[in-house]
Amino acid sequence: MIQIITILSILIFLLILLLFIKHFVKRKIREKEIINQPFPDTWREILNKRVRYYRNLPDDRKKEFEDRVKRFIAEKSISGVDTEVTDEDKLLVAASAIIPLFNFPYYNYPNVQEILLYPGSFDSKFQTGDKAGQKNILGMVGNGYMNGVVVLSKPDLKAAFDGTRHTNNVGIHEFIHLIDKADGAVDGVPEILFKHSYVLPWLKEVRKEMKKIKEGHSDINVYALTNDAEFLAVVSEYFFDNPEKLKKRHPELYKFLSNIFRQEPDKYV
Ligand SMILES: [Zn+2]
Repeated sequence: MIQIITILSILIFLLILLLFIKHFVKRKIREKEIINQPFPDTWREILNKRVRYYRNLPDDRKKEFEDRVKRFIAEKSISGVDTEVTDEDKLLVAASAIIPLFNFPYYNYPNVQEILLYPGSFDSKFQTGDKAGQKNILGMVGNGYMNGVVVLSKPDLKAAFDGTRHTNNVGIHEFIHLIDKADGAVDGVPEILFKHSYVLPWLKEVRKEMKKIKEGHSDINVYALTNDAEFLAVVSEYFFDNPEKLKKRHPELYKFLSNIFRQEPDKYV
């Protein structure tokens, strides 16, 4: 009797393993298919219209951006909760992820599997309907049972990518938190990008800029004062959405950010 139970257990285990391998192989084949297809013209049109960063890239780097977009869309699940998800929405999510790490081509957010788009802002329990509390959150990186998930308000993501300059962008903001989180701590010091010797000078710069914001001598969003992690996310939005303005008004900060992200987005303009 015990022998039969043991054999059955082994068979069930093998069956589960087989199903898992089948699912994995199928997924990898599908990913390869997407990556090997030419970049659709309709996608290119959307990127040109909505993503200012992409529009301003030189042609050879546009091709690189497109390849990264295909890879991101192939590898991640992007779906909607009570809202439809179009190709345009997927492209805007991918752009949010790729822009900050454009010069780190081998990194494709291993700590994220799923991006959920919501029909609007939501409360701290990810509720968006009538029963929700204060719906003032536009985006969030999941923790605990939501680990590996990013939630974004679809209308706010779309507003962030309307093809014009801003100093805020919810998509970039959340992906900066994910880059920061990759070393295990969301602390405003993304160690995957930082050389160790850079930490102290950066923190000194953070304190200096925070003081200016507190004194009312800065156009950086006061939300940056929440903590070091929010500071990094807020100033990075500004850096990627309006690099010319940041360079003019905060040249030191611009220099720090361009060293961290290894790019000078104002040069593409
Ligand atoms: Zn944040």
